[in-house]
Amino acid sequence: MAFHSYISISELHPSFSHPKVFGVVIAKTDVRSFPNRKNPEIERFTFGFTIRDSPDFFINVSAWGNQAYITSLADNFRIGDCVTVENPLVSSKDPEKDKFCPATPSHYRLLVVEPHSQVLLCTDMDTVDGLLPLMHLPAKDSADFYSLGDIMANGQKLDGAVINILAAVKTISEAKQFTTSDGRRGQRMEVKLFDDSVSSFPLVCWDKESIQLLQTLVPREAVLFVADAKTSFDSFRGGMVATVNSRSVVTVNPDSREASLLFSYAKQMSESGALDHDEAADHPSVDSITDVYTVNQLKLKAKEQPDTFCGLTYSFISKLDLDSSVSRLIKTRCSKCKFQAAEDAQSCSNQLCPGREQPFSGAAAFDLLVDVSDHTGTLPACSLRGAAAEQTLGCSTDEFAGWSDDQRSALKWKFLLERCRLCLKICPSARTKSGIRTVILACSVADPGEVKQHMSAVLQQL
Ligand SMILES: [Zn+2]
Repeated sequence: MAFHSYISISELHPSFSHPKVFGVVIAKTDVRSFPNRKNPEIERFTFGFTIRDSPDFFINVSAWGNQAYITSLADNFRIGDCVTVENPLVSSKDPEKDKFCPATPSHYRLLVVEPHSQVLLCTDMDTVDGLLPLMHLPAKDSADFYSLGDIMANGQKLDGAVINILAAVKTISEAKQFTTSDGRRGQRMEVKLFDDSVSSFPLVCWDKESIQLLQTLVPREAVLFVADAKTSFDSFRGGMVATVNSRSVVTVNPDSREASLLFSYAKQMSESGALDHDEAADHPSVDSITDVYTVNQLKLKAKEQPDTFCGLTYSFISKLDLDSSVSRLIKTRCSKCKFQAAEDAQSCSNQLCPGREQPFSGAAAFDLLVDVSDHTGTLPACSLRGAAAEQTLGCSTDEFAGWSDDQRSALKWKFLLERCRLCLKICPSARTKSGIRTVILACSVADPGEVKQHMSAVLQQL
């Protein structure tokens, strides 16, 4: 392909006839239809996308036509693909039409219409290699963003606001399909974000294109810069949510210092397992968990469905390493950002820590890995931490640190020999061999009558 015949987005002008531009697609909307004004029985179809060919320039393109033309055009490429746009109409921006599109530095917009214009996938590998790094440049100033803590602190003041957000991806739920009251089909997906100030914050997507983009991400291994996300107060949950809409541009793993610091933070939090233990927001109260499973039933259920779920099991703790050194059983974390720290740390080693300027304050907590078994199998390396561990063991970290080896051993055998009632949270995980991570939310020695009742129910199912 001869790219000297192409015009850069910065040089485009309405006086050009037959312009050709190329760029990487940084945003794209779903196909929509509208009744034709002159001929209401005929519907017109449209979708929009945004292409970027340099760090400083990107432009919105809208395509219009009949259903066959528009759907086949839209199916041909996705966000992240490189395309060439041939023979578009170059027109000045129109505030009415552009208010539903991403804000761009260009003064113009491109119109793609049948049969004059074409959008083709770019096949020149050198051009593609040159364009792909642009995918990692935010569509707004990379230093101009709200942290999740800023959003929470502002609360309802940000109801209806359009802001930029930088945060890491914690979980990605399945897209849910639905039909609206007027018969249109829709879908909704929720991503939970986190950063070092907030452990879980919802980002909602309604568009197939943005859902597809986010579904390709690996939770805990991606940082997002969402330019022009809409924030609103959700009265049903009683908290703030952010929404990706047709004006938003989502940049995955943005190329900025703040993003790379957040990426390191997310990686450390993920590897240490600290993300599995978030407070109330992420899992139901222990009392509401009533479904009883055998170990094998828990494993099967985790395979059948990818979402996190909770369940009750009457099982034995088959491995409980209370004889290890205290430093392996009790970990210190920064109270501001939960980053792991040495017991005698003078400062937090997380460069993004909101408390970096203040004297270090750390909190010690149990951090145990235990195996849970019954007659059907074993759940290895279940994590038992913090308050759940203190309640299970019946002692604080300070008390435990002062105990003799004999006292710890006695405590260990109390659990190893008894059947326990365990409330578990099962999270899918690509990192573990078994494909799941298990968090113990509560554990106590079970009442024998209760065990008998549940075991007979389980045996009847066999
Ligand atoms: Zn910290």
